[in-house]
Amino acid sequence: MIAITIDCGAEAVGGQNDNFVNSVVDYLNANELSLSHILVTHYHYDHLGAVPALLKALKAEKVEGCIIAKKLYDHPWEKEVFDQIKGFTIKDLSDGDIIESDGIKISSVFTPGHCPDHMCYLLQPQGAEPYVLFSGD
Ligand SMILES: [Zn+2]
Repeated sequence: MIAITIDCGAEAVGGQNDNFVNSVVDYLNANELSLSHILVTHYHYDHLGAVPALLKALKAEKVEGCIIAKKLYDHPWEKEVFDQIKGFTIKDLSDGDIIESDGIKISSVFTPGHCPDHMCYLLQPQGAEPYVLFSGD
């Protein structure tokens, strides 16, 4: 089975965030899940910063997509993170794009305001399940 993360927290600096990254890896391994996507709500470092640390901890050779809403490129936080994850697919989402993986269907909802690239993610229901919105900041 697959898993999708939404945001990754800040960079693991001096072990400060190692527990977060390790807990994600432990959970994935204990439940025999593989990570198919990392969805990022916006470029702020506390949401994007730990993407490289998570990929490194997973020894990831392939994550289907590391996805953000709007690539800004000129922001140093985003550039720093992207420079560390070259080789992974980074998809530039637009409002209404659908991410599908192993029966999970999530649509992107562009919500600029807190940040010019801010994206929310709407988990589509299966059967009688409710919609779930992941709103970022
Ligand atoms: Zn923020």
